[in-house]
Order: sequence, then C-alpha cells, then structure tokens
Amino acid sequence: MKNKGTIGVTSQDIFPVIKKFLYSDHEIFLRELISNAVDATQKLKALAAKGDFKGDTGDLTIRVSSDTGKQTITVSDRGIGMTEEEVDKYINQIAFSSAGEFLEKYKDQENNIIGHFGLGFYSSFMVAKKVEIVTKSWQEGAQAVRWTCKGTPEYAMEPADKEDRGTDIILHLYAEHQSYAQESMINELLHKYCSFLPVEIAFGKEKEWKDGKEVVLDKDRIINDVTPLWTKKPADLKDEDYRAFYQKLYPMAEEPLFWIHLNVDYPFKLTGVLYFPRIKDKLEVTRNKIQLYCNQVFVTDNVESIVPDFLTLLHGVIDSPDIPLNVSRSYLQSDSNVKKISAHITRKVADRLEEIFKNDRPALEEKWDNLKLFIEYGMLTEEKFYERALKFALFKNTDGKYLSFEEYATLIQANQKDKDNKLVYLYATNTEEQYAYIGAAKDKGYDVLLLDSPLCAHFVNLLESKMKDVRFVRIDSDTPEKLIPKEEIAKPDISEDEEKALRELFQEVLPKEATFTVAFENMGAQQLPVVITRGEWMRRYREMSALGGGMNFMGTMPESFNLVVNFEHPLVQKIRETKDRNLVSQICDLALLANNLLKGEALSTFIKRSVDIIQ
Ligand code: ADP
Repeated sequence: MKNKGTIGVTSQDIFPVIKKFLYSDHEIFLRELISNAVDATQKLKALAAKGDFKGDTGDLTIRVSSDTGKQTITVSDRGIGMTEEEVDKYINQIAFSSAGEFLEKYKDQENNIIGHFGLGFYSSFMVAKKVEIVTKSWQEGAQAVRWTCKGTPEYAMEPADKEDRGTDIILHLYAEHQSYAQESMINELLHKYCSFLPVEIAFGKEKEWKDGKEVVLDKDRIINDVTPLWTKKPADLKDEDYRAFYQKLYPMAEEPLFWIHLNVDYPFKLTGVLYFPRIKDKLEVTRNKIQLYCNQVFVTDNVESIVPDFLTLLHGVIDSPDIPLNVSRSYLQSDSNVKKISAHITRKVADRLEEIFKNDRPALEEKWDNLKLFIEYGMLTEEKFYERALKFALFKNTDGKYLSFEEYATLIQANQKDKDNKLVYLYATNTEEQYAYIGAAKDKGYDVLLLDSPLCAHFVNLLESKMKDVRFVRIDSDTPEKLIPKEEIAKPDISEDEEKALRELFQEVLPKEATFTVAFENMGAQQLPVVITRGEWMRRYREMSALGGGMNFMGTMPESFNLVVNFEHPLVQKIRETKDRNLVSQICDLALLANNLLKGEALSTFIKRSVDIIQ
C-alpha cells in the first residue's frame, strides 16, 4: 500500500498555524499524545466489556520512553489501534474535524488549550521535525501501518511489521527541542499533566538503594494514580485519605482546615475535592492553586474564569468534562454551564461551612482565625455567599469569645444602643495597640470586637450597608462617653476667648506632620487629661484606599486626629491658670506616646523633659 499524499487542510498549511498557536506552550504535546493513548485504551476496554473484543486485553499499560542519542520520544499503547482507513480518516483528513473551522475563527487569539478540538496529535509537530505512527488495529487480521510526516503537508504511509495491537507514536525532535528527551524533563511533564490519568503509564524502571548504590529493578515505574481521591466515593474515604491527597498535591503546604468532596451528575458533570487552606494574616496570592482536570487530564491551574474570585483562595481539584476549554476566557465567563458550575461550587462551600457550624462548632471556632479572611472576602464579593454566610460567620471579641452574628446582636442589644436607636458595634483592630481604649470601653460595660483582618475597613462598611440601624465604631474613634452617645453631653463651661487661647497653646506643641483638631470635653477627673482619637470615617476610608478600593485621594492626605482635652482633669485646670507650656507639651506627648505617635527627636525631647521633671 505504499502511499503518499497531502494532509487535507481546508484553508491553509496547518503547521505554521500550530507553531504560532502553541508558541507559548510547547510542552503540552506529551499530554496530548498520552491522552490519545488513554482514549484508545479505554475504547478497547469498552469493546471488551460489550463483548465485541474477544479474548484477553492483556497488559494495557501505556509506555513512554526516550532516547537522548537519537533524540526521540516514543509513546506506546495497547489500545484499539488504527487501520489504514482510520489513519487516513483521523490523521490525514484533519479538515474533517472541527480544527480547520476553529482555527479560522480564532486565528487571532493566543489560546493554548488546543487539545480538545481535535488538534492534539498535531501538536507534536511543535517539537518534532518528523513524527511516525506505527499502529495496528484491534480488528482480526488487521495490517499494521506506518505513517510518517516531516512537518510538511506531505505524508507517507506503508505497511509495517507490528506484532502487538495498539499504537506507537515516535517523535524525532528538533535539535533545539532535544531537551524534551531528557528523563528529568519527561518526568516533570508526566508529573504535571498525567499524575491522575485513568490508565497506568510507565516511564523507566523502579530504582532502589542497595549497599549505598542505586540499582535499577526489573519493574516498570508507574507514574500515575489511576484512581485519584476525587474519583472515589466519599463514604469509602477517611480523613487521613483527604489529608494524604492534599500532601500529594501540595507537598510544602500546611495541613488544610476542612475539605469538600464535590460530586455532581446533573445538569453538568463535575467531581473534585476542594480544601480550605490556612490563610495567614495577609492577602497573599496563593502559590498553591486549584487544579482543573478534564477526565483526569490536567488542563490548567488558572481557574479564575471558572470559579468566583474568592474561591480561587481554595486549594484542590475540579474535574469536569463540561467546561468548554476551547474558548476564550471572556466567553467562558458567560457560558451557562460555567455559570452553573460556579454557582454550584459557591453553594457547596456555604453548605459545608453551615454544616460545620451546626454540627461541630468547636472546630469552626478553633479554625476561624485562619478561615475568616476567606469568608470575609467571599461575603464582600459574592452577594449569594454573603446571605448564606450570615448563618455561620462568627465574630470574635477581644476576650477571645466567638459568637454568631445573631448571638452578638443579642448580646449588645441592651447596652449598646445610641440616642438615635442605632446598635453600635465597637471594635478594635489590634488588642496591643488599642489596649487602653479597649479597657476604657469595657469599663463602661461595653463589649469590644476584634476585627483584625486586612479587609476590616471594607468588611465593616459592607456590614453597615447591609444590616439595618447599626454602626461600627472603632474603639479609638472617640472618647469613651461619646463612643455610644446616649444623650447630649454637657459642654465645658468656658468662654470663647479662653477656648481660642487654650486651643492655640495646644496646637503649638503638637506635631506638624499630621492634622490635629483640639476639642474640650468633660470626661471626669479620674480619666486622662488628654486623649487622642481618630474619626471613624476618615480612618476607615484611608484604610480602604490603602488596600485599593477607590477614593485614592484619601491615601495622599495627611493623617488627621482629634486631641480631646479633659476639662475636668486637675492638670488641665492648672494649665488654665498657669499657661505652662512645658506642662502642655508633657501631657500631649504622653497622649502621643500612648498611640505610638511619638518618634525621633520629639521622643528624645520628651524623655529629657521627663527626666527634668522627676529630678
Ligand atoms: P482528538 O484526540 O482530539 O480527536 P487528535 O488529533 O489527537 O484529536 O487525534 C485524532 C484521532 O486520531 C483521534 O480521535 C483518534 O481517533 C485517532 N488517534 C490518535 N491517537 C491514537 C491512538 N494512540 N490510538 C488510536 N487512535 C488514535
């Protein structure tokens, strides 16, 4: 049958297109060839199951080998193989597949997910100057065929000697791509793309250390796990299995907090396991990402368009044949299957957290600090998740107690309503730095929340906008009396002139790098003479703009504080009489010091002055 011909491509020479398309992602060729081998093997298994293939299927292991001298890579399977007609139809006439049409439509787009629209095999021409297929069909009396092509539209086909059923694909690499024949490179690619394929893949032999030497055993080294965890039934799995699988996916990561096993059949197919990782105090772009598989073939770990943003903080695996991989990302977001998948995963994540809240609250509380950033981010960015999270989200107060949103509202209901009948949530963002303020609020019988995540300002804003008649007030935003004003507080008895003069006296000694507003209040003789507060709104918007969230002009404004002078303090009375500038400096510096605002030269002057005073 010695046969020559031209590959049937409708519009243009396929090879330059392949190279252009796949410029950035050469390495997928191995995944494509092995996926084809897996498909051919599974088809054979299906034929055997139906009884069409009679006899023993034998060893179905797919074998990968390479020869660095000859610069070849070979992928061999014992699947269904191809007859001459089939090679002609499936390999030569690629124009019959959707590839030609697809390329025409998307030729301007850099899209590296090419394997799922019938160009898989041809991707080998990205790295090989010549490709041979030696194949023998499973059918009785089939003649083996050798197909050869040198990266031009001409191919040759001839009968071949092949005893075994199945297909060998032999790549003769370009000199510049010969590194692909190296064992370490193949190992890396197999690990990345083929770790969980459903048919055993052998590469090289098992090795063992014996008497200080590495010896090669006569046993194939199987590189994959054919039944990865997500393909198994949750009822058959133990916690250790989930933990071990996590370790396998992310060897360097700390233990996960919780996990969810996904298993959907309708209206789309999806399996997977998602893990909640420990998220530490900063919003790190996580190194370990969710991996997307299509029938156990690794596709990508770039799942941004498929799951809502906050879910990309999770780890694990999603496997779905129903995610269209051959389209652009913007299209993906509007695809109805992808939308359903996305909504489903969000719902499952919420279900799982609610279940833990109901059935294992101590576990949720124990892990909350590591989980809360993820939940806050979800509540901020996904309306649906916000609504669900109201049931299981926790507040932690400065005493380290965890309360649900509902429980917390009940707790503060009686004592923390202001004169306008708004419920005031008092919060601290740092128990060390705001120690004195927290103490003062607690002395008044108030409860203080600890909201110490980097998303705090945004989160508090969200809660205020969603919950009715509530206000969030950071503990240092006003004097204790005014944090939750119950009634109008009487102004100090002072003439306008005296107030002006006193204000100037205080302004003079205050640092110039920030803006200070001086105010006078009656706070009681037992309170401090001077207190510094930071208005809730200004501070909150500054923090929000620092994290990126509009209002960027705020970030460039000098910080602003209030300096509240306690008119009922004896030292302030003394200042009224003596106008002692040193005393004003001293009590202002003490207030600055309490807020970590006294630095450099000012701090050193304060220390010297203090020494003079106590001498
Ligand atoms: P796809 O796998 O996406 O259909 P390919 O270009 O990779 O596209 O392969 C085209 C066709 O060639 C396959 O659909 C299959 O029929 C056939 N084929 C490829 N590799 C093998 C193989 N190892 N064994 C049997 N048939 C194969």
